[in-house]
Amino acid sequence: MQRFQCYIDGEFLDGEARYQSIDPATGKNWADMPEAREGDVDRAVNAAEMALYDGPWSKMTATQRGKLLYKLADLVAANAQKLAELETRDTGKIIRETSAQIAYVADYYRYYAGIADKIEGSYLPIDKQDMDVWLRREPIGVVAMVVPWNSQLFLSAVKIGPALAAGCTMVVKASEDGPAPLLEFARLIHEADFPAGVVNIITGFGASCGAALSRHPKVAHVAFTGGPETARHIVRNSAENLASTSLELGGKSPFIVFADADLESAANAQVAGIFAATGQSCVAGSRLIVERSIKDRFLNLLKDKAEAIRVGTPLDMATEVGPLATKRQQDHVAALIDKSVQSGARIVTGGQTPDGEGFYFPPTILDCDGVASPSLAEEFFGPVLSVVAFDTEAEALGLANDTRYGLASGVFTQNLTRAHRLMKGIRAGIVWVNTYRAVSPIAPFGGFGLSGHGREGGLAAALDYTRTKTIWLRTSDDPIPDPFVMR
Ligand code: NAD
Repeated sequence: MQRFQCYIDGEFLDGEARYQSIDPATGKNWADMPEAREGDVDRAVNAAEMALYDGPWSKMTATQRGKLLYKLADLVAANAQKLAELETRDTGKIIRETSAQIAYVADYYRYYAGIADKIEGSYLPIDKQDMDVWLRREPIGVVAMVVPWNSQLFLSAVKIGPALAAGCTMVVKASEDGPAPLLEFARLIHEADFPAGVVNIITGFGASCGAALSRHPKVAHVAFTGGPETARHIVRNSAENLASTSLELGGKSPFIVFADADLESAANAQVAGIFAATGQSCVAGSRLIVERSIKDRFLNLLKDKAEAIRVGTPLDMATEVGPLATKRQQDHVAALIDKSVQSGARIVTGGQTPDGEGFYFPPTILDCDGVASPSLAEEFFGPVLSVVAFDTEAEALGLANDTRYGLASGVFTQNLTRAHRLMKGIRAGIVWVNTYRAVSPIAPFGGFGLSGHGREGGLAAALDYTRTKTIWLRTSDDPIPDPFVMR
């Protein structure tokens, strides 16, 4: 059985306890994992605080920080295949996706390497004589990063990259489900020669490890990706340490298809939008809103494509949909389908948990037209598409905005003016027009409402890991006059 360790203060450690990680393709234990608890968390946060204020990191120039980030990017690129195999093994995400995604993760580190020495302060044109005033941008402090199981290297890169560029130090908590790739990534941090304590990587359970980390008094900011319920715990904890938070949460993203769209393109984008990563994607286009005149045609196209998908073992390059990450997730998907069918939704394809080992679930389409189905409101985080039809553009927009989430959306139409109206009208952090699921280190990413707040990606994300300090310097040599008059 493969064995992993935590990385705290530049050392690889076993953690206060141990647990076993399950291979989702077989349902059997395959790796022995460290379980960090309060003591480990405390050690990691203290190491991060030491590194922030006292260690060599605190004395480095921004350019030197950038060079370390470039080195890390190269190491990620060189080790992408190994990391991909570990992520596939530990989470069930197919190797085709993990290898492409992790190769791209290197570009995220490269992007933030370039940003490190472009985070500038400013000089203020102050309204007082003989006074120079500047804003310095300083690292926000020790950052706690808490990530979910899906795409851990990607979801941590969009936090670690900008935080390092800004000069922060951090404790990253990998999900207890599938932590192997992130724990292995710690070896690259070590090899890149980041000073001890700058990046600490641990794993453990939410209620013990995650909670202890997010409420730790020395944590200044919590960058969280996960579900809304956990986000509420994080925000409650922030009432204790008054840490700021950025929250990347779930979604129930609308995917609107008009009759004038290129239907083949739209169908391919919809299939990728909902079935890639076995639907375990925060931006999954999980609500298809299709113009009624083409509904049957489009659904047939989708059904054919869904049924042709190769579901199989995730380490096989030919596999297109692998297992869900956990049994809990498999049970949740099946239960929500049952509830939806009871409310009147009709199964177009899929819908049944298959027999056999592993946490598989087939690509599923639910026709929910005219039905108040819970599948239109609740996140499956699985390969399930819910479909409704519309007659007018206003109706399509109303359906798209009928959600408490606000993460992503897609619009397929050839009508330019309509596309512009919808990109303004849709309430979501991302609108993809005639495309879906495109991401880039250069483009901000994030949502609002139940999808959270804050943005990852882009220059602004690095600025979010800074705080400003206002410096006042009196330039006159004259003695300071009457102390009771403000100047
Ligand atoms: P989750 O909220 O259960 O867990 C996420 C992380 O939080 C894990 O590391 C977990 O250990 C930790 N955690 C759990 N309880 C905690 C507590 N009380 N205090 C502190 N930490 C705690 O999420 P999940 O089920 O692992 O992931 C699925 C969710 O993540 C979905 O809702 C999905 O949409 C969302 N997600 C969002 C994005 C995005 O960028 N918007 C990306 C991927 C996933």
